[in-house]
Amino acid sequence: MRGRFVAGNWKMNGSLAANAALLQAVSAGTQSLAGVECAVCVPFPYLAQAAQALKGALPVLGAQTVSEHAAGAYTGEVSASMLAEFGCRYVLVGHSERRSIFGESDAQVAAKFVAAAGAGIVPLLCLGESLAEREAGRTEEVVGRQLDAVMDTAGVQALAGAVLAYEPVWAIGTGRTASPQQAQDVHAFLRSRVAARDAKVAQGLRILYGGSVKASNASEIFAMADVDGGLIGGASLVANDFLAICNAARKG
Ligand code: PEP
Repeated sequence: MRGRFVAGNWKMNGSLAANAALLQAVSAGTQSLAGVECAVCVPFPYLAQAAQALKGALPVLGAQTVSEHAAGAYTGEVSASMLAEFGCRYVLVGHSERRSIFGESDAQVAAKFVAAAGAGIVPLLCLGESLAEREAGRTEEVVGRQLDAVMDTAGVQALAGAVLAYEPVWAIGTGRTASPQQAQDVHAFLRSRVAARDAKVAQGLRILYGGSVKASNASEIFAMADVDGGLIGGASLVANDFLAICNAARKG
């Protein structure tokens, strides 16, 4: 039985004062969520604040990206070992905003995955198609290619310690959510793609759905057989909304 998991992605939001209140509320509300692991992926400058506020309890700490390099002349970058020092357990790799705005290629995302895993941080690998790609019937081709890039580089066994997040680009921050069946179809496809290389790894792999998940639609999405939780953007900035989604994962 795969455990349920809900991760918040704060994106480039927050302030010391706002974070303190949000972390306090989310931390208080997630302690009793039996069977659901929760994480918050905060901007780099707030890792120390969040680590201090969460004190190793739930939600666990995550970051939003990581350098594929270990150290050196990469101005502005942050390495996986630096994230580990600040108590990060998870890091997003390949979020669609990183791919589209910052031009991260499949190969670069795969290298980031390897760097994170090598530092003992669980990579939360984001995959998803654009609206044009979906409308052209290319969803499986695109997410399959994104997944294969990581499996080819890191090996399928590396997924045993990782998490996937299917995030259709057209659903992120748009208020337009994939239907539960659309999410299920892609999740089942991803799981079968992994199973073709290793059935056991596929069976244990947690696959989250992300894209305009709200308290009002979380339960029906989390009820699908291959959906193991959610990656939550906007709603993770409002404690009560995030907690309601975490609760829906418990019941779903
Ligand atoms: C995200 O940022 O990964 C995301 C899913 O955002 P939202 O929930 O706001 O669509």
